[in-house]
Amino acid sequence: MSNKILKIGRPYIKDSDNGVRLYSDLSLDNKKYTIWYEFDSKYKNAITFERIDGIVVNVLLYAMEHSLDITSDQPITEELMYSLENSLIPAISKNIHKYKRIKLLLKSEAGTLSNDSGVNAVGASASGGVDSFYTLLKHTGMEKSDFNVTHLTFFNAGASGAFGGDKARERYHERIDWIKSVADELGLEMVCVDTNINEFLKQGHEATNTYRTLAIPLLMQKLFSKYYFASSYEFAEFKFKETDTSFYDILNLPCLSTPNLKFYLSGAEVSRNEKLQFISKYPITYNKLNVCVAQAHNCSKCDKCRRTMIALYGLKKLDLYKNVFDVDYFNKHKHEYFRIMMALRSWKEVPVWHEWNDNYKLVRREVSLLDRFLGKITLLYRVMRRKIYKTSFGKSIYEKYVKKD
Ligand SMILES: [Zn+2]
Repeated sequence: MSNKILKIGRPYIKDSDNGVRLYSDLSLDNKKYTIWYEFDSKYKNAITFERIDGIVVNVLLYAMEHSLDITSDQPITEELMYSLENSLIPAISKNIHKYKRIKLLLKSEAGTLSNDSGVNAVGASASGGVDSFYTLLKHTGMEKSDFNVTHLTFFNAGASGAFGGDKARERYHERIDWIKSVADELGLEMVCVDTNINEFLKQGHEATNTYRTLAIPLLMQKLFSKYYFASSYEFAEFKFKETDTSFYDILNLPCLSTPNLKFYLSGAEVSRNEKLQFISKYPITYNKLNVCVAQAHNCSKCDKCRRTMIALYGLKKLDLYKNVFDVDYFNKHKHEYFRIMMALRSWKEVPVWHEWNDNYKLVRREVSLLDRFLGKITLLYRVMRRKIYKTSFGKSIYEKYVKKD
C-alpha cells in the first residue's frame, strides 16, 4: 500500500500585527492546515520562501511517524534532499521503529541563494541553560572572528510547550525580555521567531527538538551562514533514540546543512561539569543561568536544579550563583541533595545518571553513611513511583516525573 501524501503549499509572506509572517498551507487527507512563522520586520529580506527546506525539516519526523510522503510545487535545496534521502530517512527508519521510510516527491534546486540581507550572521540559540551558555560564551571573542556569534536566537519551537497553544506562547513571551537582557549584555543581535506549527505536529519536545529548532534558521538562510546547536550529550554517547534526537546530532547536523547554512554541534567535546567549570568564569552567568525545568526561574528543588547546584558546590562555585539559586536552602539541606544524587547515580535508566555520578566524584568525601542508606530508600521509592504512574524516561523524565519533585 502506498503512503498517504503530505503536501506543502507554496510559501508566501504577509505583514502581521507583530512583524511579518511566512505562511504555507499543508494539505493532508483533503484537509488544509495553514502554518505560519512570525519574524521581526527587519528580517523580512532574510526569509527563505523560494525553497521549502525549513518546512520539510520541520515536518520530517511527523511525516515519518505517520507514513506520509512529502510533496510540493516549490523546490528544496538539492544538497539537503540528497542527505535526507540517502542518509537521514534510511538511517532513522532503520533504527527507530516508530519512524517509517518515506519518499520525498520534490523537485530540487542546486546552489546558493542570493543573500539579500547582506549579512553573514552566526547564530546560536539562547535557553539560559549550561549547554547554551557554554556554546554562546565559547563563541564570543574568538580570534577567528568569522566564528563569533552575532545573533542570539529564541524560538517558540517547542521548548516553551511542545504542543504549542496560548500557554506555550505566553511562556515564550515571558522569557523574551530575559533573553534580550543576555543579548544586550553580550552585544548581540536577537532573533525571535514564533510559529503555530507545534499545534499541527503535537510531538514531544526532546523527541523532535533538533528538527524543530534547526528548521527555523533554514527559513532564514539569507541571514545565517553558520549556526551553533548546543549539544546535550558527548560525541561518545551517539545512538539512535526515539525519545531524544540529540543523541544522534552528529548525524543530524551535517545532513541538515545546506550550501548557504552550516550547522555546527557545540559542546559535545566536553562533559556537563567541564561546561559548568568553563561558564563559571563569566560573571554574566551569575545572574542569568537558568536550568530549571519546573518553573520560569530556578526552583532549586527540581532534579535539574539539584544536579546543577551539587556540581557547582563540588566545583566550589555555588556561592557565585546566590542570585539565581537558593544557596541558603542548599547549605541547610545539603544531605537531602546528596541522597537524591546517591539514588540517581545508580539508576542507569535515567538518561543523565552518569552526570549524577560525576557529581558524586566531586563531593564523595562529604557523603555520609546515612546518605548512602537513605539514597537506596529514595531509589526504591522512585522506582516504585515510576512503575505506579507509568512515567517514561527520555523526553518526559523532566516533564512527567522529575518535575513533580
Ligand atoms: Zn528547578
